[in-house]
Amino acid sequence: MSKNVLVYVECADLRPTKAGLQALGAGQRLARQLGGEAVALLTGPGLEAEAAKLGAHGANKVQLAAAEVFATYSQDGLARLVTQQAAATQAAAVLASATPMGKDFMARAAAAGKAGLAADCTDIKVEGGKIHAVRPVYAGKALATVEAAGVLWATLRPNVFAVEATAISAPVENVNVSYGPGDLKSVVREIVQGVKGKLDVAEAEIVVSGGRGLKDPAGEGKQNWENLEKLATTLGAAVGASRAVVDAGWRPHGDQVGQTGKTVSPKLYVACGISGAIQHLAGMSGSKVIVAINKDDTAPIFKVADYGIVGMVEDVVPALTAAFAETLKS
Ligand SMILES: Cc1cc2nc3c(=O)[nH]c(=O)nc-3n(C[C@H](O)[C@H](O)[C@H](O)COP(=O)(O)OP(=O)(O)OC[C@H]3O[C@@H](n4cnc5c(N)ncnc54)[C@H](O)[C@@H]3O)c2cc1C
Repeated sequence: MSKNVLVYVECADLRPTKAGLQALGAGQRLARQLGGEAVALLTGPGLEAEAAKLGAHGANKVQLAAAEVFATYSQDGLARLVTQQAAATQAAAVLASATPMGKDFMARAAAAGKAGLAADCTDIKVEGGKIHAVRPVYAGKALATVEAAGVLWATLRPNVFAVEATAISAPVENVNVSYGPGDLKSVVREIVQGVKGKLDVAEAEIVVSGGRGLKDPAGEGKQNWENLEKLATTLGAAVGASRAVVDAGWRPHGDQVGQTGKTVSPKLYVACGISGAIQHLAGMSGSKVIVAINKDDTAPIFKVADYGIVGMVEDVVPALTAAFAETLKS
């Protein structure tokens, strides 16, 4: 069995994302168990300096495909590259982050590699000489352990795997491709940024999320959402949302936490007016400390909360903001 692990390290704003480094950390630990090397693959121009630093996060080798064709996202462009590099590195496993991008191109890359994809894995390890990947199924109610007949292709759930701190001197190899943008079926032409400088829920250390209990921000919930934003600003937190809120058009999809949104594991998660449906819990139950505010003391969110406040968001959120502001001042 080959022993190397190829990890696609996702980048944004010319540096690896937290999820990308977490996937690399998982790749290094798996490579150690296999007795092989973790090979980090980066794409896009302008990443030379970041590529050279990846030995500090578990890469034994770095491959950089800096061609202009990777300046923006292309599903088939990346799938072709990753399939090519999986063969070139004789990878036993190919890993990427279970982000919207990773979920998109890895299914295609795995199919091109004549394999299935173990999507959204929360653990990956060697047992009995075989690579096993663990993935939550039925909205996290059960865990499935999957084993690949050949190469294991997997996407890893963000904020579940730890980033590695290593001191490896990892050589950077340039990877050339023979195709240009004109050869690709799909190319992203433009990325429209929502609000500039806004903290991403998946990256933030503190997340304050609002649910349907906050009501319509264009109507009677206006003050509630302003209060939530104030609490988030006071704590230096990102604002998250339940799907009910996103489906109602009250917040953008990028804020959604849960099974069909983002997985978060911040140091502190404050759920305001969120019932705690299983699909929401699937995205936030790994948070270190969970605070829930709900008027209904039987709301399921209280089962996972470390601190529960039974009360109206209208009263509790401003009171919490004032208390935090006072405490943080001193
Ligand atoms: C396939 C699938 C995928 C899904 N994916 C997701 C997902 O990714 N993320 C997600 O969140 N959901 C997801 N859902 C939806 C999920 O099942 C719930 O419907 C949703 O999470 C409910 O959102 P909510 O808690 O905001 O609303 P509700 O369930 O309506 O809860 C509102 C809560 O607010 C409380 N409340 C009301 N007024 C006040 C007040 N004034 N003060 C304090 N508390 C108050 C109520 O007691 C209630 O508990 C998914 C569902 C399916 C079927």
